[in-house]
Amino acid sequence: MLAVTILGNNSAIPAFDRHPTAQVITLDDHLFLIDCGEGTQTQMNKYKIRRSRINHIFISHLHGDHYFGLIGLITSMGLLGRNQDLNLYGPPPLIDIFKMQLEVADTKLPYNLIFHPLKEEGIMVKENRFQVSCFRVFHRIECWGFIFEQIRPPRKVNPDKARIAGIPAAFFDRLKWGENYETKEGNIITNVSVTDPAPKPKSYAYSADTVFNPLVAEKVAGVDMLYHESTYLKDLEERAAKRFHCTTVQAAEIAKIAGVKKLLIGHFSSKYDKLDEFEKEAREVFPNTHLALEGVSYMVP
Ligand SMILES: [Zn+2]
Ligand SMILES: [Zn+2]
Repeated sequence: MLAVTILGNNSAIPAFDRHPTAQVITLDDHLFLIDCGEGTQTQMNKYKIRRSRINHIFISHLHGDHYFGLIGLITSMGLLGRNQDLNLYGPPPLIDIFKMQLEVADTKLPYNLIFHPLKEEGIMVKENRFQVSCFRVFHRIECWGFIFEQIRPPRKVNPDKARIAGIPAAFFDRLKWGENYETKEGNIITNVSVTDPAPKPKSYAYSADTVFNPLVAEKVAGVDMLYHESTYLKDLEERAAKRFHCTTVQAAEIAKIAGVKKLLIGHFSSKYDKLDEFEKEAREVFPNTHLALEGVSYMVP
């Protein structure tokens, strides 16, 4: 399963009950956080995201609307007694900012904060069930997008067949990952006899803040679902370009060129009270467009 839960969908300033950027990725039993704008912890409480389940945090760039909530989150994790490692990925200066904030407060984290500076495009994390890679986008300062890919999706357990074979429900999770079951008598029940094949691996790309550039489409080509910023409606194309952002139509163009199945748009400017026009305009170019709404989880198709 690959899904994205939106915690913040606004650009620079919190407005109209919308928050700066943050998203939680659920990839099978892993949770990842992308960006951590101000208010992310409050949103996590509201939407019942457990901080302790997050072991990897990805920060796209050092504009405040993408990381001003991070020092609070890192500190809370310590106060809540975290002891497992936390991996943080972001532009190199990020760690200096945190070192200073922690030092002046004489705060010692009870867990290892492992910082991975983003320097080159390519794979950053590879485990046997997923990988995460990064790519550069085109913003006013250094900015990165991320691609999450399943490598080996779980098989589907057929609960009736498994029960008849005498396999306890507690073992179903291991069946999903291909294990055979051995009965008390020492008989082996093969995995294929009680599960269905895994679906095709899924992928999701988060393209962060960027000016319109078809090269972005090349970098995310073929992913199943793309999140692309759409700070403005189409009539403000010039303003978007000047501020290194995109419009609805430009986001939809990228989705079309990249050949993705589904597009999420977000990072809405605080000048807009209502968002209906965003969806309408983008759908004229790319019909399977959805607004990234806070508190909603979007399944990768
Ligand atoms: Zn931003
Ligand atoms: Zn920015």
